[in-house]
Amino acid sequence: EFVGDEFADPDGVGGQGDGQGPVPVLAVVGRPNVGKSTLVNRFLGRREAVVQDVPGVTRDRVSYDALWNGRRFTVMDTGGWEPDASGLQKAVAAQAELAMRTADAILLVVDSRVGATEVEQAAADVLRRSDRPVLVAATKVDDERMVAETAALWGLGLGEPYPVSGLHGRGSGDLLDAILDALPETPRETFEATRGGPRRVALVGRPNVGKSSLLNRVSGEVRSVVHDVAGTTVDPVDSLVELDGEIFRFVDTAGLRKRVKTASGMEYYASLRTQAAIEASEVALVLLDASEPISEQDQRVLTMVEEAGRALVIVFNKWDLVDEERRLAMKRELERDLGRVRWAERINISALTGRATAKIAPAMRTALSSWDTRIPTGRLNSWLSDVIAATPPPVRGGKQPKVLFATQAATRPPTFVLFTSGFLEAGYRRFLERRLREEFGFEGSPIRLSVRVRE
Ligand code: GDP
Ligand code: GDP
Repeated sequence: EFVGDEFADPDGVGGQGDGQGPVPVLAVVGRPNVGKSTLVNRFLGRREAVVQDVPGVTRDRVSYDALWNGRRFTVMDTGGWEPDASGLQKAVAAQAELAMRTADAILLVVDSRVGATEVEQAAADVLRRSDRPVLVAATKVDDERMVAETAALWGLGLGEPYPVSGLHGRGSGDLLDAILDALPETPRETFEATRGGPRRVALVGRPNVGKSSLLNRVSGEVRSVVHDVAGTTVDPVDSLVELDGEIFRFVDTAGLRKRVKTASGMEYYASLRTQAAIEASEVALVLLDASEPISEQDQRVLTMVEEAGRALVIVFNKWDLVDEERRLAMKRELERDLGRVRWAERINISALTGRATAKIAPAMRTALSSWDTRIPTGRLNSWLSDVIAATPPPVRGGKQPKVLFATQAATRPPTFVLFTSGFLEAGYRRFLERRLREEFGFEGSPIRLSVRVRE
């Protein structure tokens, strides 16, 4: 019954629309107060999605899932941070750069009552070079009479401006249709493209954990930036670093190299950059400062990696500062704070002395190979029937749900789908996940398990 094309339908396992597969990303850029958040809320159809920003407070999430006409896409809202007036032009241009690197389409939002200022001009100068589709939304067009005024925005050289009111919803349907037309069916980061090329690494962690120091050490030891590796074009913001005889591509390291010091209001930008680097990577090296307690910010970065579904290596840096007391405290913190990412390898290094930095490359290789793993369907199902025979799913409402079949729908990360005759409790799903790891490993990679109930 469960053969062949069952798994190839568009709403099928691991594909788009099932809550698991990768979806295209729309980045929203623009000055503060032009109405970005209001418009994004409109796309999401729920008011509470984007919280009003409190200055200086980092917003947790910058991406949101949107659904329009049955198609899912991710909205990356780049709003919410306010550099001082002098830096605004630069900041919005940087926002646009980032969007071009990470998104599948870009929406430049302009306040129709203000029109295009030099900030929008600066952003447009960047965006005109984009090889991604760019749309212009003229917001706050609350009634018909204001539509004519938006025509001036043709002058940005980005095509037809879409008049909308985020507040009342006017024009947002047309804009969403245009966005869906502009977005590709599948996001551009399908890692197939990188096969054969250097693997992509995100070096992330909160400020001062030692990211620049580590990058300098590992790239200083060997060749720093290698400009021509056969068959690859290197984005200038990435660094090619040779570790343990293998070249890795450290993505989005320009900021690290330049050692930009984060000014006030830039914390949000730092978090956005972190997210962008993770999205662009295959494996994340999350750096923590071993000499300090594990912080919420550390955990947020780890959560980003897990949610993005990337391979992970946890690197405790500054191990040279760790004494016996700290070591004991850390043991407790590991249990309490890092239980969720128990599957990730942890290595203790010192960027200062070079201690154990040689362990980084092997750990990344292990994590990536887990991330790439595909378990043959036959093997998966023979394992599954053994597990279920020994520990059947708990009875619910007098009925014993049957697990009929399992398949690995995707790799990167490994994604499994179970077909069942009834609801499986969360506890049992976690049990299966645990057993799956016991049997097949997956060290360093998140795994996904979803259940489909078949009547
Ligand atoms: P952001 O900083 O770009 O995210 O801008 P916000 O979405 O927070 O909006 C800034 C201000 O403009 C808020 O006071 C909104 O209520 C107002 N605003 C946003 N969209 C509209 C609109 O379509 N019409 C009107 N009249 N006001 C709007
Ligand atoms: P980033 O903000 O994550 O790039 O962190 P930096 O590389 O700028 O490092 C922040 C501070 O920590 C600097 O003063 C470094 O010298 C120091 N640091 C980095 N790695 C180590 C280490 O392994 N041991 C010690 N003791 N200090 C370190």
